[in-house]
Amino acid sequence: MGTSGKKALQRLLQPSTELLSKVMLVGRPNVGKSALFNRLTRRREALVYNTPDSHVTRDVREGVAKLGDLRFRVMDTAGLETSAGSESVLARTAGITAAVLRECQIALFLIDGRTGLQPLDADVGKWLRKLAPHVRVKVLLNKAEGMHADANGALEAAMGEAHSLGFGAPVAVSAESGEGLADLYENLRPWVEEAQEEMLALQEEESLTEDKTVVEELKRVPLQLAIAGRPNVGKSTLLNALVCQERVLTGPEPGLTRDSIRVQFDYDGQTVYLVNTAGWMQRVKVKEGPAALSAMHARRNIQRAHVVALVLDAEEIAQTKKSMRHAEASLAQWVIQEGRGLVIVVNKMDLLSGRENAHLRSLVMRAVPEEIQKLLPQVTGVPVVFVSALEGKGRGAVMHNVNESYKRWCARLSTAKLNRWLSKVMSRHPRRGDKGYGAKVRYITQVKARPPTFVVFVSGAGKIDDTELRFFASSLREDFGLGGVPIRVLQRSSR
Ligand code: GDP
Ligand code: GDP
Repeated sequence: MGTSGKKALQRLLQPSTELLSKVMLVGRPNVGKSALFNRLTRRREALVYNTPDSHVTRDVREGVAKLGDLRFRVMDTAGLETSAGSESVLARTAGITAAVLRECQIALFLIDGRTGLQPLDADVGKWLRKLAPHVRVKVLLNKAEGMHADANGALEAAMGEAHSLGFGAPVAVSAESGEGLADLYENLRPWVEEAQEEMLALQEEESLTEDKTVVEELKRVPLQLAIAGRPNVGKSTLLNALVCQERVLTGPEPGLTRDSIRVQFDYDGQTVYLVNTAGWMQRVKVKEGPAALSAMHARRNIQRAHVVALVLDAEEIAQTKKSMRHAEASLAQWVIQEGRGLVIVVNKMDLLSGRENAHLRSLVMRAVPEEIQKLLPQVTGVPVVFVSALEGKGRGAVMHNVNESYKRWCARLSTAKLNRWLSKVMSRHPRRGDKGYGAKVRYITQVKARPPTFVVFVSGAGKIDDTELRFFASSLREDFGLGGVPIRVLQRSSR
């Protein structure tokens, strides 16, 4: 069986593991992370293997946890620390733990209910706050079996101490006996469910994730540009102009270049993959046969592309006084929905040259951006380029805009920068994201790029509404110059 076959089979057998929310166990050594890991994953065997080199005893462990009807992925880096040595435990393990933590949505911060709070616990707490402000943290007071029965109020004292770490109310548990797991369930359920929904949302947005290898490949390969548009608008001619070679057969008959054609060329010292997705427009009419097949290829090529150049015919726009036909409008919307960058190329401008056509030229140059703005109000700043592919004019303009769009699509904004921005936005618009909505915006972080995806963390009873999320998306776009690329903003509630 090929790799993809095996992968498919694995997916069938374990349909959703990849999509489960991720929970990390953190804490200084000996607080019971392994014990809890084993309990959650129902592993019976003792897992403390000390290798001769006691510096590194185990790798990151990952398992699927079951807690009541909740399923989530649980990670444990216990054992990466050494129990002895002068070097700071945190310093040594920080790198790997941080990398794992960054992928998680939730952290369970264990402390030892028997020994009480130690200075190292406070260090772990500081580190968590600094390194992973987007991760939700629940403090677990472990080894608390039997402490309820203690008449001296040992549990209350320990809980008070644990509370002082600043991560909200702790939960008393016993990894060894299983006490307190029902409380843990109650506390974790809303977080796990929400993180789960978020994972699913991200998954859907990645549109290609059904084929993980393609996504990975996309991350490594250079800019992928798709040229799309109705037959005869000049896609092949444009492709030739961009590549500077007569590679693609062009001709006046619609649908001549039916199959998607892929070429590679260098632009400004960088490799670009260019694909002509001629078959797209037949999609609606043809359900079977070679045309349907090429429509499918076209669709897939657009999904694989980083940036899509949608080509329009200037002469036709001038004649019909319509910037876009239905098929073109829906393609533009679909490109954004699929999370790709969009550049509009208005071709055949040479047919509108000369003094006598000046008014038509200005009509076209005004109408197209207006139409795009109306069609995609949520994505301002879609570049519109006016060219003549036949005369070879506009190669630079097209490639410049494509390249810029690609850069914006890949943009990564640091959490610090984003939060400085957020406080400015909030002071400019004090009502925005405030209590009036039943929720207060706390901070924001970018969870992925390509396209840029952000999560705002809100506290309070309610959620901020969609208008608010759109406001954040459009402000981010404007303030960080992310025009023409889709921006996702999700929300997560934090306490
Ligand atoms: P880790 O270093 O954080 O992974 O800690 P371990 O899971 O290896 O546990 C450290 C020690 O604490 C072991 O001797 C465990 O048996 C003990 N331990 C773990 N959980 C509990 C618990 O809930 N109650 C008690 N009494 N001991 C526990
Ligand atoms: P496709 O079907 O979208 O790939 O379109 P083609 O590239 O095959 O072009 C269709 C027709 O439009 C051909 O006759 C081209 O010569 C013509 N054409 C393409 N670009 C231009 C242009 O910029 N100006 C003019 N006047 N004609 C063009």
